Amino acid sequence: MTTDTERIRLAIYQRFAETGQSSSRDYAAAETALDDATVDLAFETLADQRHIVLGEDGEIVLAHPFASINLGFSVMGEHTLWWGGCAWDSFAIPHLVADEPSVLIATTCPGCGKPLAWTVTRDHPPEGSEVAHFLTPIARVWDDVLDTCVHQRIFCGEPCVDAWLAETGYERGSVFDLATLWRLAAHWYEGRLNTPYRRREPAQSSAYFRKAGLRGAFWGLEE
Ligand SMILES: [Zn+2]
Ligand SMILES: [Zn+2]
Repeated sequence: MTTDTERIRLAIYQRFAETGQSSSRDYAAAETALDDATVDLAFETLADQRHIVLGEDGEIVLAHPFASINLGFSVMGEHTLWWGGCAWDSFAIPHLVADEPSVLIATTCPGCGKPLAWTVTRDHPPEGSEVAHFLTPIARVWDDVLDTCVHQRIFCGEPCVDAWLAETGYERGSVFDLATLWRLAAHWYEGRLNTPYRRREPAQSSAYFRKAGLRGAFWGLEE
């Protein structure tokens, strides 16, 4: 990655972390004093290397764990409000934003529509008997990453997962508790606000998933 591309990556991430706001191509050009062609090339490179996800208009939809649109989760700090890309991303945000020791994460249960919320800190998993359900096996998360994020949700409990699967016709993915979700999220994006940064590739992160307490072929792990 060129120095310019890394500067733009960092500018995008730091703005998301500090303000909850996405960076348009125009904003990135103004912020870094780079010309439009350099910014366009950097956006394409960052998308190719999976640092950002672009919408049809060429602007940022996701810079994991941050989203520029509502994907079902809000993450509210004392000073800043973020969209979380999914359950995993939302639980990761408090681990990345040093100025916010505690956030309120809110969503609705896809099974019954009930509003759900937790206070999430960096110190320990939140209380709660809700469960996460991830639909897309880890080996395929980047096939359509926006669709993957949209289907990484939190439900009231197993009965709501079952009701939602019956209604949608999807096959059951991976179901786990909030403590496991919190451990999964805690270090996944570590270093993303620093430079240089090397992404974790989900398909090559077996040890990380095992340590978080996840099991099974869904996660690329033997039982
Ligand atoms: Zn429910
Ligand atoms: Zn996500």
